[in-house]
Amino acid sequence: MWMKILNEQRGENPPRLTVEKAVILYENADFNLLRQAAAERRRKVNPEAEVTYLIDRNVNYTNICTINCQFCSFYRPPGHSENYTQSYEEISQRVSELEAVDGVRILMQGGVNPDLPFEWYTNLIKYLRENHPQIALDCFSPIEIEGIAEVSEMTTLEVLTQLKKAGMHGLPGGGAEMLVDDVRLDISPKKGSADNWLRVMHEAQSLGLTTSATNVIGFGEESIHRVRHMERIRILQDEAHANEWRGFTSFIAWPVQLENNVFGKRNRGRNRIELGAGPTEYLRHIAISRLFFDNIEHIQASWPTMGLGVAQMAILGGADDIGSTMMEENVVSASGTEKTCALELELQDTVSRAGFKPRRRDSDYVLLETPLVGQDAQTFPSPPPIQHI
Ligand code: SF4
Repeated sequence: MWMKILNEQRGENPPRLTVEKAVILYENADFNLLRQAAAERRRKVNPEAEVTYLIDRNVNYTNICTINCQFCSFYRPPGHSENYTQSYEEISQRVSELEAVDGVRILMQGGVNPDLPFEWYTNLIKYLRENHPQIALDCFSPIEIEGIAEVSEMTTLEVLTQLKKAGMHGLPGGGAEMLVDDVRLDISPKKGSADNWLRVMHEAQSLGLTTSATNVIGFGEESIHRVRHMERIRILQDEAHANEWRGFTSFIAWPVQLENNVFGKRNRGRNRIELGAGPTEYLRHIAISRLFFDNIEHIQASWPTMGLGVAQMAILGGADDIGSTMMEENVVSASGTEKTCALELELQDTVSRAGFKPRRRDSDYVLLETPLVGQDAQTFPSPPPIQHI
């Protein structure tokens, strides 16, 4: 059965992969043939033998959060001795360091902080826009937008409209995790239903903000849940395209990190093979996502959670982008990843050694001039220490 479905997918005009057939492939298809089919699809969608990456920086402006996701080791509840919120000047300093290495975008996300008024966010965006006019500001995730809306007694659409007016460029796809309420409400009951995340994304897309879709796997869910997550995103993307909006630029998946958080502790002693995802499972996920998303152009490989070696395998099996330099990362890394920064040289090497040409891009996947960097060409400064308040 799986062979017939895979052959269908490898044909000249493959039909849209249904949820049922995707699950059959997920659970049964030969690993190498599945990856081969995904690599072929990638070549159809993105024929150039190039793999893109972005020089950017993650900024995690506050760790104060009231949502208490079980898999999160980053947040601290209000009043905790390790709380921090970065000042505009501290954030700006980080952006200046990004500019010094030819960076083009910041990805700024934090906790849902009930102490920050609406003006704090709009003034921050204006401040960064004025001081760093060339840097794209992709900021906040849908749950942060909901938190801001609640504090300011505005609708999420009004919040997004004002942030865009202040100069925000995009809304990152953080917080999607698993858009299936059975799984979602178990691990993040206060984050609300999948519908909320999708509604805020829909609003962002209606305003022309750049958006991406994410997916965290490995909570002990079944493959049907993973494919249902993809289905919710595919449907929203259809709606965006029907409205002639760009919709999601890309799909980015990674496995949950199990160390240092309630989710890991709650499941201690459980067969670890069921949780998180090893390289083979992750690469299957990448391949299935490439075949499933006939309406999302870019599939990203995740080096921070899987390492550069597995990311290299991912670009040979469906992915066409290797993410970004990040420079620092404090959210996923708090749960156990060790590598939180990649030099441009490392990304270029990883891509070249897989037989592709590395290409810089911007947040909208527009290709940029790409110098081949040398051994001594780029070092990133260590992130300044976080000041606890
Ligand atoms: S994942 Fe985000 S929303 Fe959830 S607790 Fe951590 S910071 Fe808060």
